[in-house]
Amino acid sequence: MEPESTESASRLVVLLVDDQAMVAEGIRRMLEDEADIDFHYCQDPREALQMATEVGATTILQDLVMPGIDGLMLVRFYRSNPDTRDIPVIVLSSKEDPNTKSEAFRNGANDYLVKLPDKIELVARIQAHSRSYLAHRERDEAYQKLRDIQRQLEHSNARLEESNRELQRLSSLDGLTGIANRRQFDKTLEQEWRRARRNRSQLSLIMLDIDYFKHYNDHLGHQCGDDCLRSVARALDEVVCRNGDLIARYGGEEFAVIMPDTSLKGAHQVAENIRQAITDLQIEHPASDIGRHLTLSIGVASAEPSEQGSPAALLTRADQALYQAKDKGRNRIELAAPLAGPRPASVGQA
Ligand SMILES: [Mg+2]
Repeated sequence: MEPESTESASRLVVLLVDDQAMVAEGIRRMLEDEADIDFHYCQDPREALQMATEVGATTILQDLVMPGIDGLMLVRFYRSNPDTRDIPVIVLSSKEDPNTKSEAFRNGANDYLVKLPDKIELVARIQAHSRSYLAHRERDEAYQKLRDIQRQLEHSNARLEESNRELQRLSSLDGLTGIANRRQFDKTLEQEWRRARRNRSQLSLIMLDIDYFKHYNDHLGHQCGDDCLRSVARALDEVVCRNGDLIARYGGEEFAVIMPDTSLKGAHQVAENIRQAITDLQIEHPASDIGRHLTLSIGVASAEPSEQGSPAALLTRADQALYQAKDKGRNRIELAAPLAGPRPASVGQA
């Protein structure tokens, strides 16, 4: 009994292409004791290419002289076909002739034997060529698999990055109004504070609150309340259009505007534009104590960031100005008093 190979992938498969059945019988006998070699025979050269592919040849033994076709032409066929291009070809010649031999190699043969060859030599060469071929093929397949995995990984990474960006974007936006949320506001205020300190520039902050918004909600329902918040956000977005400014929903019915490189006077003007824009919207407010339409109370504060100050202090001052505006009757703007303090000697000496 011949031992079965457990791995069909490592089996050596020989295809003999020769018009003489006698030669085939001789080769078959030489190989019949070789457990790891499968022998196939093709008598018709026209079927050689297809058969080599079908049996999965790992080595082709190729006769040179056949009726109707030159063996070397067949070798060139193998070489030009993607399925057989890399299969080793051992040419079987009837004579030891240097010219024929060099022709064979020039046309793509890998080896040259005179028939009938010595059994030991034939088996050794089939084994060497077949194993080399299989090793190359396995390496190519492994490489291809690696490339596929790499491509898949790159694809997944790109999608992951995309999702992360989207997540980042969503986590910085207010779900109801689509403008920046509190989280983004805090982050931006911190950043702009540091930038203003580096640049020795002014940073302004506007805090806004919808007057009697609780009454508005109680009277008209939360659906209308949400619409109202969206309208205010849209108006803010239209009025505050300078690059670098940030509008945010600070919480509830409170909004905020961060304005880098902006003086108290400049921020005051923007606040007035906002107040006017809301007035122009003429949003009915049937439950307001100060009129029939929606209004805003606004507080503005400005600072020239220093080592001593802080974003939190600026926020407190803007908030205090906002509460003053509420105290003084709403629908108005209050400015936080500028901070007194020594200014750096290098600034303002023009
Ligand atoms: Mg022949």
